[in-house]
Formats: sequence, structure tokens, C-alpha cells
Amino acid sequence: MNKQITVTSPLLPPLEEFIPYLQKIWDSKWITNNGQFHRELEEKLCEYLGVKYISIFTNGTIPLITALQALRITGEVITTPYSFVATTHALWWNGIKPVFVDIDSKTLNLDPEKIERAITPKTTAIMPVHVYGYPCNIDAIQEVADKYGLKVIYDAAHAFGVRVNGESILNYGDMSTLSFHATKIYNTVEGGALVCHDEKTKQRIDYLKNFGFAGETEVVAPGINGKMDEMRAAYGLLNLKHVDEAIMHRQNVAKAYRVALKDVEGISFLDDIEGVRHNYSYFPIFVDETQYGMTRDELYFKLKDNGILGRRYFYPLISDFSTYRGLDSASKDNLPIANKVANSVICLPIYNTLNNEDVERIIEIIKA
Ligand SMILES: *Cc1c(COP(=O)(O)O)cnc(C)c1O
Repeated sequence: MNKQITVTSPLLPPLEEFIPYLQKIWDSKWITNNGQFHRELEEKLCEYLGVKYISIFTNGTIPLITALQALRITGEVITTPYSFVATTHALWWNGIKPVFVDIDSKTLNLDPEKIERAITPKTTAIMPVHVYGYPCNIDAIQEVADKYGLKVIYDAAHAFGVRVNGESILNYGDMSTLSFHATKIYNTVEGGALVCHDEKTKQRIDYLKNFGFAGETEVVAPGINGKMDEMRAAYGLLNLKHVDEAIMHRQNVAKAYRVALKDVEGISFLDDIEGVRHNYSYFPIFVDETQYGMTRDELYFKLKDNGILGRRYFYPLISDFSTYRGLDSASKDNLPIANKVANSVICLPIYNTLNNEDVERIIEIIKA
């Protein structure tokens, strides 16, 4: 049996670089609640990402829930079924009815043309996802939102560092959320963030993530505990120094896959888009079973038998999980493209320490 290759492996900073940070934390005895490293990480992330205001969180799900609270979203929200479950769960936790709209076959993100048809008098917002870090059609989505007076909250969990014509993708819509989970390109073990565009909103978010406390004895909202601690903020500062190198390595892996799989009949993949700074967070391939001569699941299990643990992200669709499948908008007829994509996708291993030999082995299995 060959050694196992997982779909991802966390970006870990050198341990010896972490020790001095820990020493500082031990010396100060300030281990959470807006400490020095927490403030420094927010500053450094604003610089790195090219955003004005960011609030860091304990994971990537609480900022989704908090964004909806901060903007007082209610009623119905239009969202994509082709994502990780947390996107829709955040709506549910706010008592909001998710309304699924199909994806565009090119971007794999919410299809702006179909959004308009799903709007009702109860619709208050749109929650799209930049899936695999590929930008949504931001202009068309904003146009629909403006026409109907809707807020736009992007789940940008996959889009760390992504830019469009030099501008951070996080600067579009009313807010964007990030995840710094171990499996994402940039991690703080667990962690996340909420990006907004003005100081008052940042203030409100900071209250909300700290139980609603606006002072020692004043609580201004039913907040939650979403704070990031000093250990993970320090770890995050360190990983920020290594993330560009990791992205460069991932880019080379993506290049190798693309060159090798270009002529394999029945296998397709996403290309780079001109003007976009990609982050290579995932490498999804799509299997056309009649052309390839094998179903997606057959290839998935063949890889698995060879120790290669690709993942079927995103399958099943969120709309197929028991919590959501009873909704009218969850029907297969409403989501033909999302269903087709979910039934053909495999995400191949891609991470900063994946070596050429392993990439070659994966390619050989797909080609054989
Ligand atoms: C990872 C992820 C989340 C959740 O982030 P956590 O940090 O795991 O809570 C939300 N949305 C999407 C699209 C994700 O991939």
C-alpha cells in the first residue's frame, strides 16, 4: 500500500518561530480579549488583504452568523446550494429561510439572472459564495441587490488573498467573511474574520463578538462570544509571513495538473481568469462519465484505493441534506446545474508541501 495523500495539509509555521511569541504571551499573562497579538493581526490582515476594516473571530462560521445580526437580516435570503453547509446553517441559526438559487455553469457561483426570479417581498439579502476562490459575478449581483434594496454578504471562506484587477474581492458587497480553518490556505488552526467597509460597522461587529459589551457595565446587543485568543492570533501573524510562498507552490501544483490533464478526454477543470489573482485553494476536476469511460465515484474510489484521498466537494448539495431538502427551492428541477456539477466533481490534493512525485502519481492514476 502506497502512503496516503490527503486533499490538503495545514500550513504550519516553523515551531521555533512560534516559541518567542508564546514567551511574550506568558510574560504578559494576557491570553485573550483583544490583546496585543489580536490587534496586530487585524492590522496586518488589513494590509495584506487590502481591506479597510476586519474583525477576527474564533472560527469562520460565527462571522457568518454575526454578519446577519449586524445587518439585522430577517425573512428570506437567497443563497447557493453549492458550498459548505455552514453558509446555509448561518441563515438557519438566525431564523432566516434560505432560498436556493442555481449556479452559473462557468463560475460555479450564484447565477445573477436566476436571483431576480427568486426574490419575494420577504427577501432581505443575498448570501453568495466565491466557491474555490473563484470570484462571483460581483457587478451583476450588486445590480440586482441595488434594484431591490437587498444587502449582500459574501461567504469568502475560500477567497483569502483573491484580487480582481488589483482590488480585493473582499471589498465588494456589504460584508465578507473568511475562514482560517486548518484546511484553508491561510489558517490560525481554527479562526475566521468579518470584513466591513466603515468604522461604525466594525464597532458594532466588535460589540457583537464580545457578548454585546460596549463598556464595563454596558451591553448594547444580545452578542455572542466569537473572539480569537492570543495564541492563535500570534500563530496567525507567523503564518501570514509564509502564506505567499504556500500560494506560489500551490500555483505550481495547479499548473502541473492542468498541463497533464488538458488532453484527458472527459476530465475538465477551471482555468485562471485574466485579471484575477488566484489563491489555488482547491483543484476541482469534473468527470464526464460517458467521455471518460468511468463515473465520478468510480474514479474517486480508484484514487482512494491507491491512497489518494480526493474529496467530493461539494457533494451532496446543501439543499439535499435532511434539514433543507423539504424547502421548495431545494428541488432538483430548481437546481439542475448545481446537481450536475455536484455529481461530477472531485477535488484533487493541493497544498504547500505536496511534492512533484506525488502529483505525478495522482496524474498517472487519472490517465490510466
Ligand atoms: C470552511 C468554510 C466555512 C466555515 O468555516 P469554519 O472556520 O470551519 O467555521 C464556511 N463557508 C465555507 C464556504 C467554508 O468552506
